[in-house]
Amino acid sequence: MKEKKLMYRIGGQIRHVQLYPIYYLFNRSLGMCMYKAGSGIDDEDLLVITCCLDVPQQKNCAYIDVNNCGEDIIKWLERNGLGKATGRKVHSGYAIYPEFMFDENMLLGYTNEFYTQYLKWQDELGEEQEFLIRSCEICNKEFPLIVSREAAAMYREYQKGAPYLIQDIFPELSNGERGLLARGQCICKNCFEEMFGLFPD
Ligand SMILES: [Zn+2]
Repeated sequence: MKEKKLMYRIGGQIRHVQLYPIYYLFNRSLGMCMYKAGSGIDDEDLLVITCCLDVPQQKNCAYIDVNNCGEDIIKWLERNGLGKATGRKVHSGYAIYPEFMFDENMLLGYTNEFYTQYLKWQDELGEEQEFLIRSCEICNKEFPLIVSREAAAMYREYQKGAPYLIQDIFPELSNGERGLLARGQCICKNCFEEMFGLFPD
């Protein structure tokens, strides 16, 4: 697919711009950048138009950083055939971020290693599943877990203090995986075992 000619105000001037899909490792969600055509991802005026939020994400959807880009960017994206606002909005801090579904054909036209990787991750997910990625506080290694959307929603409440038991939220996970997710623990199985090894009976 040939790339569309997009004009946008970037670096204080109306420029021919190119889109550049990225992903957020935090939850393997989609992100989007824009840079001056002919320039690259290291463009000093690189504009990240999305933000990473800890909320459920549908495929090819991202939350637009209207706080940084202004509300008009939604209309601009739609007018240029880049996708459609879903109507969902998420409050985070003092801002409200609208969710936008990018057009898959358009994204394929901009395919780069990031979007290819994003699609591979999406293929691993079932209909009602999402990624929950946590890193071990000891070894800093990241552990991507695939969980049901329902369990993920419960887990978000648990993190805010809801009185659930971790084994009730994730009955299908191993103790080692739950240890990584438990409030105040966040330690992987290996590190947990190593710590116990330091204190033999
Ligand atoms: Zn560890």
